[in-house]
Amino acid sequence: MFDRIAKAQQQIGEACQTLGRPITVMEVCGTHTVAIFRSGIRSTLPEGLKLLSGPGCPVCVTDQGYIDAVLELTKRDDCIIATYGDMIRVPGKAGSLETRAARADVRIVLSSEDALQLARDNPHKTVVFVAVGFETTAPATAVVVKEAAEEGIENFCILSGHKLILPAMRALLSGMNDRVDAFLCPGHVSVIIGAGAFAEIVDDFGRPCVVAGFEPLQIIEGLAEICRQLCAGKPELKSIYSAVVTDQGNTAAQRIIAKCFDDADGYWRGLGKIEKSTLVLKEGYREFDGFKRFGLTDEPGEDLSGCRCGEVLCGLIEPMQCALFGSQCTPHRPVGPCMVSSEGTCAAWYKYGRRD
Ligand code: SF4
Repeated sequence: MFDRIAKAQQQIGEACQTLGRPITVMEVCGTHTVAIFRSGIRSTLPEGLKLLSGPGCPVCVTDQGYIDAVLELTKRDDCIIATYGDMIRVPGKAGSLETRAARADVRIVLSSEDALQLARDNPHKTVVFVAVGFETTAPATAVVVKEAAEEGIENFCILSGHKLILPAMRALLSGMNDRVDAFLCPGHVSVIIGAGAFAEIVDDFGRPCVVAGFEPLQIIEGLAEICRQLCAGKPELKSIYSAVVTDQGNTAAQRIIAKCFDDADGYWRGLGKIEKSTLVLKEGYREFDGFKRFGLTDEPGEDLSGCRCGEVLCGLIEPMQCALFGSQCTPHRPVGPCMVSSEGTCAAWYKYGRRD
């Protein structure tokens, strides 16, 4: 393994010299962000190769307007709010689910099935599932919506904040940050959508896309492959995670998403409104749409005062460039979602960055 790491490092170094210009690679997966920091890979790379973290953390990309819509529900005493743990500390305009938990019924769940079970167990309250995440978690949400429909469970609904990664990558390259030379594509999302889905980024934008796993060797070999393509001037789609990711992805998961959701325009933190980038329940399942049931709006919100998460998510700044980093904003007292989430870029920089 060490031979392969050394070889990849040598290839990266040679590529940086050959190209004679800085190379910018963006990872669009929160797990990659953390894996890169934790392994110390950054410190082994030549100065000419810059790694940027993109919109790959599902909690972080969730727009402020969605967070505030969830917090609106804490004013009701007829609801149980079921959420994954990472969402609970994300600050809204007025507190967070954690700070509201004293007067609202907020439950952390490990799965969408747990949320549906809460509805079965609490027939006199409506369970609202805070459904965020990319294509990785959307199938599990779709399954419980279908189950709720089949079982006639009326006291269950979701607030869909599910997002699609490809429209975000297109939006970045179309204006938000066209400095990105190549993408290290997300391993988990690729399991669902398939490596082949990234071909449109290669074809339409001429950027290398390499799907990699999360081991240090896989990441560094992915970077070496990107460098090879840039030197050759031939952007390609390549998966070096073929033991897990197929070209076509998980077609059963894709089918259940398509059965329950439509693509819709939606808001992203930092990236703004992106066409056909979010998932909304299909007409036949609209009774499970929490926005409709409670008259909530999912209008765009702005980052909280001083927080620059939007720019961090677009790779426009590094967390240290935010004046609040490490002072007013720490994992203990986060100001923005990028410091809350275990996959957030600011949290990763805070925890590991100073070692790099
Ligand atoms: Fe937002 Fe905190 Fe990151 Fe600044 S350091 S961008 S306030 S999360």
